[in-house]
Amino acid sequence: TSIPHSEMMAGHEMASRLYHHILTLSEEGKIGLDYAKGRGFTKQQIEHFKIGFVPNRWDTLVTIFKKRNFNLPEMQKAGLLGQRDSDQQYYDRFRDRLMFPIWNHQGKVIAFSGRSIGDEKPKYLNSSDTPIFHKGQVLYAFHLARPAIRKSNAAVLFEGAVDVIAAWGAGVNQGIATLGTALTEEQAKSIRRNAEVVTICYDSDKAGVEAAVRAASILENAGCMVKVAVMPEGNDPDDFIKKFGAERFKNDVIGASLTLMAFKMRFLRKGKNLNHESERMLYIEEVLTEIATLSKAIERDHYLRQLSEEFQLSLEALKQEQYRIFREKK
Ligand code: ATP
Ligand code: MN
Ligand code: MN
Ligand code: MN
Repeated sequence: TSIPHSEMMAGHEMASRLYHHILTLSEEGKIGLDYAKGRGFTKQQIEHFKIGFVPNRWDTLVTIFKKRNFNLPEMQKAGLLGQRDSDQQYYDRFRDRLMFPIWNHQGKVIAFSGRSIGDEKPKYLNSSDTPIFHKGQVLYAFHLARPAIRKSNAAVLFEGAVDVIAAWGAGVNQGIATLGTALTEEQAKSIRRNAEVVTICYDSDKAGVEAAVRAASILENAGCMVKVAVMPEGNDPDDFIKKFGAERFKNDVIGASLTLMAFKMRFLRKGKNLNHESERMLYIEEVLTEIATLSKAIERDHYLRQLSEEFQLSLEALKQEQYRIFREKK
C-alpha cells in the first residue's frame, strides 16, 4: 500500500543522511563541524540529534535527487528545493547552514531547521508548512524524548532545538521545543497524552517571559501541571549550561522551577520597591487579580494565605479587596 507523500519523506530522509554525512565525514563539512564544536556540541549530541551541514552550494540536494530519480517538483513542494523563474532550474533552499532534522512524532524526518554559521540572515531558516509538515502540530525531538517523558511523567519545553540539545547534553532528556512559533493547543495535547507535569524553560528575556506565560495557560487548559524554570536575565538554557554547567542547570534551574503563580508573582515584583506603600499596594492588587483566576479553591486559599503572611494583612481584608477589584473590572 502506498503511503501518501512517501516521496517527500524519502527526500527528507535522504537529505538528512547526506547532511549528517557531510558534517561528520567530509572535507566540505569541516567549517560546519568547527562551528558545531565551537558551540560546544559533542559527538554524542551530533549523533543523537543527527545534526548535519549543508555547504554553500546551490545543488547539494539537486544533484543527489537527480542521481536517484527523485521527482524534483515534489521535492520543491516538500520545501527542499526552489525553482528559478528565469530558467526553471531547481536549486537547494538550504545552503551554508548547520542542519537540524525535524521529525514527526513517529520519528520520520519531515522538515529542517537550518542555523546560519556566519552573519547570514535569517539566523534560522525553518521549512515552511508543507503537506508533510505542519509547524503547529510538531514538537522538536518529541520521539527522542518520549520514553524519558513517559517514565518521569514530566516534559521540559524549550524555545528551540539548540536548547533541547544542550539540555540533553546536561542530562535533561525530556526536552522538546516548538519551532519558532507560539505553542498551540494541539501541541499541548500531545504533551498531555504523555506526561502531566510540564516545565517551561524559555529564554530569560522579555519575549521569553511573555511567551512562557502564554504557553502556560495553553498547557493548563490541556490539563497539564505547569512549572516555570528561571535563569539569570538575558540567558537561554544553552548559555546557562555553558556558563554554569550541567549540575547547576539540573538543580538550580530545572529542579528549582516555580509554580506558575510563583513565577507570575516574581514577574510582578520586578522593578517595584515593596517598601514603598503605593508600590506594595499595587503589587498586592495585581497578585489578588492573578489569584482570582485560579480555578482551584484550595490554590486560591494557599496563595491568599501566603500574601496575608508576607504583608501582615488579614485574610478577610484580602478577600474583600479581591471582591472589590472584581466588581470594578465588570
Ligand atoms: P542560537 O543560540 O543559535 O542563537 P537560539 O535558539 O538561542 O539560537 P533564539 O533567537 O533564542 O535562538 O530563538 C529561539 C528559537 O526561535 C530558535 O531556536 C528558532 O527555532 C526560532 N527562531 C529564531 N530566529 C528565527 C528566525 N529568524 N526564523 C525562524 N525561526 C527563528
Ligand atoms: Mn529568544
Ligand atoms: Mn535563545
Ligand atoms: Mn541560544
